[in-house]
Amino acid sequence: MKSVKAFRPLIVTCALFAPFLIPACAQTDSAQETHGINLAHIDRAVKPGDNFYQYANGEWLKKTEIPSDRASIGVFTALDIIANQNTRTLIEQATKANAAPGTPKRKIADLFTSYMDETGIEAKGLTPLKPHLDAIEAIHDKRELAHALGETLRADVDALNNTNFHTANLFGLWVAPGFNDSEHYMAYLMQGGLQLPSSDYYLTDSEQMRTLRAQYQTHISNLLKLAGFNDTEARASRVVELEHAIAEKHLSLAENEDIHKANNSWTQADFAAKAPGLDWPEYFRGAGLSGQANFIVWQPTAFTGESALVAAVPLDAWKDWLAFHTIEFYAGVLPKAFDEERFAFFGKALSGTPQQRPRWQRAVGIVSGFLGDDVGRLYAAQYFPPEAKAQAQAMVANIIAAFRKRIDALSWMDPTTKAEAQAKLNTLYVGIGYPESWHDYSGYEVKADDLFGNVWRGVLFDYHWETSRLGKPVDRKEWSMTPQTVNAVNLPLQNALNFPAAILQPPFYDPKAPAAANYGAIGSVIGHEISHTFDTEGSSFDSKGAVRNWWTSADLAHFEKATAALAAQYDTYKPFPDLALNGKQTLAENIADVAGIAAAYDGYRASLAGKAAPEQDGFTGDQQFFIAFGQNWASKTRDAALRQQVLTDPHAPGEYRAETVRNIDAWYSAFNVKTGESLYLAPPDRVRIW
Ligand SMILES: [Zn+2]
Repeated sequence: MKSVKAFRPLIVTCALFAPFLIPACAQTDSAQETHGINLAHIDRAVKPGDNFYQYANGEWLKKTEIPSDRASIGVFTALDIIANQNTRTLIEQATKANAAPGTPKRKIADLFTSYMDETGIEAKGLTPLKPHLDAIEAIHDKRELAHALGETLRADVDALNNTNFHTANLFGLWVAPGFNDSEHYMAYLMQGGLQLPSSDYYLTDSEQMRTLRAQYQTHISNLLKLAGFNDTEARASRVVELEHAIAEKHLSLAENEDIHKANNSWTQADFAAKAPGLDWPEYFRGAGLSGQANFIVWQPTAFTGESALVAAVPLDAWKDWLAFHTIEFYAGVLPKAFDEERFAFFGKALSGTPQQRPRWQRAVGIVSGFLGDDVGRLYAAQYFPPEAKAQAQAMVANIIAAFRKRIDALSWMDPTTKAEAQAKLNTLYVGIGYPESWHDYSGYEVKADDLFGNVWRGVLFDYHWETSRLGKPVDRKEWSMTPQTVNAVNLPLQNALNFPAAILQPPFYDPKAPAAANYGAIGSVIGHEISHTFDTEGSSFDSKGAVRNWWTSADLAHFEKATAALAAQYDTYKPFPDLALNGKQTLAENIADVAGIAAAYDGYRASLAGKAAPEQDGFTGDQQFFIAFGQNWASKTRDAALRQQVLTDPHAPGEYRAETVRNIDAWYSAFNVKTGESLYLAPPDRVRIW
């Protein structure tokens, strides 16, 4: 919910390096000497009031093609490409350093080497996975099944920070400050069990979804065949049938986002009574959580339903499901045939991406994934100078100050509600560039010739690190993103923000650009993250991160009315004739966009200190501010991936995020937008929240 952009974890998020495309999608090419908005991207034939996204990005849209190994391209992609190249440079330096075994540099080098060792991977074949498949085959009752299911539990979901409600394991764990005790880490459990991105993929009766389901079933059969199973078509059919039954028990994404429905405290003993079927003591033993007395169960009905399925569905179907899920999880680090089969379905069929990314880019993703802070420490030292940090901090301070003024000026809000809102800003921790302390990976063993083992151990190391925090005091300065991540995040239970080094660079942030462009681009991102503090969910947490209603009822009623209007506005957007945006599912992000641009605009005006803004090629300061904002969201996405985003992402697609400007009065005067133009909203219809 809280990040400015979602990462879909299904396909590793490394980049294709397509040099001819970079200049077209961002101002990052060295040939360009100007700073500020990208004039070459603007389509002056389009009226800003008719289609602001096309106006700001039309020329870029005309000449940009999605690289064959990507599902989409945009400004975030361009920066991902740069961050990946930077990270590769760091890895190469680490490799050349020939560091002592066990040191961070040696681990970085060895992990990268193990991923690139295709000959070694082919030679080993299925051998590394075989003992795990044998263990599944040896399961002979539901009690042993429960233990094996427990062993698959991972800390792989995240309800409020990076927002990921999806795990293919039966359930997912999120370790975070407690809803009812924000001073200590709590175990949150969430629904899971599906490989496809959401329950819609199983339950929607459309031509497109039926085709995908058929392709999925073939994919399961193919993967089982590669792993040496017999009777694979029947097994695949059983797996799809079981996942279909699980999907029927799932809550939708919009329902998942309601934290008041999610705050269900269960003791370990409650599980057997409230969700009978699964042997819960055995499940928790498998998960290493026998000693954990209390949990928060995010979707109780899904737990009841999924647990009942463990009892009702025959053991053999569960064993097929477990074997397939295990192969699928590791397919990317097995021989080429597995990797290619996996990409053929998840990359080509599901996202519409024709080609897999170069291996080195996927290797960078693995290294950044398992040794994120070791890489991040090098990244920050090499690519994020102290001046950049100081300048970004000054900008954040200006936007927070603008937010304070906006809160004080709200005519509808009671003084007591305002006081708690200000208190939230007082205790907000803002991390810029990189964290103050780093993760210690010394317990993680990496071998240069054992990719499968490195991933197996890395996943477990990560899980044990997360579970070791349960019950311990919360570190509010703990980061949830690495410095090399092109994104930003609000952590509502910690009342904290992270702005990684990799997003604090052109075109989002350029120290040589006019203030108008910087505030419109990175300023609106900063404002977006700050305003998550006050979105539909952020507004449920007080200044200490505790779940508490600190609103008067009249204020809450006003807030809910205004946000309902925004949800209705987004419900009208239709990326496809048969598929509209879900205003409720994207509401928190849309509130953050509206409030973020409003605060960034105020911060920008304040930064001028009464002086006139310099023009750029005839564009006024205000025009530059809004164009820079619109250019943040330039993107092209393949149809299949765009459909997936509409169904599974709390963020609206970029085009509609750019149109947020229609709620801001200053945009109307900047571009002389009039009644009758497509985006025009009469003043009472413009949504003003903060
Ligand atoms: Zn966000």
